[in-house]
Amino acid sequence: MINLYPQKCNLCGGPVIYTNNAAVYGRKYGSGRCYLCQNCGARVGTHRRWPRQALGVLADARMRKGKVMCHGLFDKLWKGKRKASKKRADLYGWLAEQMEIDIEDCHFGYFDLSQLRQAYKILLAVQDKPMLYDERGQLYFADDQERDNAD
Ligand SMILES: [Zn+2]
Repeated sequence: MINLYPQKCNLCGGPVIYTNNAAVYGRKYGSGRCYLCQNCGARVGTHRRWPRQALGVLADARMRKGKVMCHGLFDKLWKGKRKASKKRADLYGWLAEQMEIDIEDCHFGYFDLSQLRQAYKILLAVQDKPMLYDERGQLYFADDQERDNAD
């Protein structure tokens, strides 16, 4: 599990402060609070209802971009679909399995850069494949036509 009350930066080891996020974003945003690395500037927002609790690990610009890119691909798979919240939960389970991590750790905000890259590749590979459920209720993506023919 990741530390949701960080005092040391997960990227550079520098000291982390708990502060108002207006200084970072230019205006108050979300909970109004964030954790900020004094050394490298990596940061993470906090939970609206539990403002001391970080939403994930501290992230630098590349990780923030990776997170947005992953969410773009991930959200397309469930948003606006039938039984969207079930699909969303099942997709997290599926992704955790693909990445060989615990489902509790399967949040884009918890990933480091290499995990974000890994998740992005996995999600990209299934974008155009039909999302199906097998007889045990497990979500999977159907292989494409070429592969079926090759078998
Ligand atoms: Zn840092």
